Amino acid sequence: MNTIEENTNVTSLRIGSGVIKNIGKDAGRFVVATMEIPWKLTTKLLGAEARKVVIIESIEESWLNEQLSDLPGCDCIIGIGGGQAIDAGKYFAWKLEIPFISIPTIMSVNAFVTPAAGIRRNHQVVYLGEVSPNPLIIDYDIIRSAPRELNIAGIGDLLSIHTASFDWEHAQSKGMSEYPFSSSITRKASEILGELYPHIPAIRNAENEGLKAIALGYMKMNTICLPLGHFRVEEGSEHYLFYELEERLQQPFIHGNIVGLGIYLMSRLQRNDSNGITEIMDEVGLGYHPNAMGIKKEDLLRSLLNLNNFVKNKHKLWYTCINDVPISREWAMNATENLRF
Ligand SMILES: [Zn+2]
Repeated sequence: MNTIEENTNVTSLRIGSGVIKNIGKDAGRFVVATMEIPWKLTTKLLGAEARKVVIIESIEESWLNEQLSDLPGCDCIIGIGGGQAIDAGKYFAWKLEIPFISIPTIMSVNAFVTPAAGIRRNHQVVYLGEVSPNPLIIDYDIIRSAPRELNIAGIGDLLSIHTASFDWEHAQSKGMSEYPFSSSITRKASEILGELYPHIPAIRNAENEGLKAIALGYMKMNTICLPLGHFRVEEGSEHYLFYELEERLQQPFIHGNIVGLGIYLMSRLQRNDSNGITEIMDEVGLGYHPNAMGIKKEDLLRSLLNLNNFVKNKHKLWYTCINDVPISREWAMNATENLRF
């Protein structure tokens, strides 16, 4: 078992092929939070019987609290699955003040390394609690059995460093940064990208080395961001375009893919090496083109033209290039010219 370097939220890590095996034997009395497909995949591998298995049907706080009131006594919670199962497991562990074992079965989102449980309260996202997975278990064989495009999408929230860090620096240059700006921090964040790029072919093919590169990238991000108390180096205008589209179209998206579309367009608005980052997204096979997400050209154009208005009406959003670089219909037509609809 690896002990993790300073400040990351993960207390210990088991990473490799087959590392999930018999994890239940050392877990004492445990409850599993999972979903049907990941549970089928892992149920025989744990080596011990769960006291209860909660199939997560919702991450609404009220639903989760109902499940909590029905849980048998246990020593730890094991979360097995994608973002929602992991978040539900974190929530249970936090509420019960017991250890949490995190077993992501897909790389698509970073819920498995972040401390707070992202759940819904009356359909609005809220982040609650602080939980450190101990251990985090990354079993390559399990993760590889998930659809490849979903594992590739895991790279979206790392590539967003490219546009988000630029936004932070831009905000600083306009005297509008919400947090003390530090170029040593943006430099550390861009080192994550530098370390990721040699592994692009392995990420594309869901090879061990590629899955590890994404997991380590997320953990390094935490090492940088948790002490700061914000994720400014990773979240900026590329996410804001996604928020606008989500509100406009009221449909779910694969997070990394829609963030990829944001990176594509906002790196163009920023004039920030858009060709370089687009090449990386193409090489890794990220599904950022609108046709893959069912986004029509007219909707995307409307979204872009409304973006400035959108961020100004959301007071919590940070200052980015959207605030002061004008988006005209002509610019939007040009920027979307090579996207596939
Ligand atoms: Zn994100």
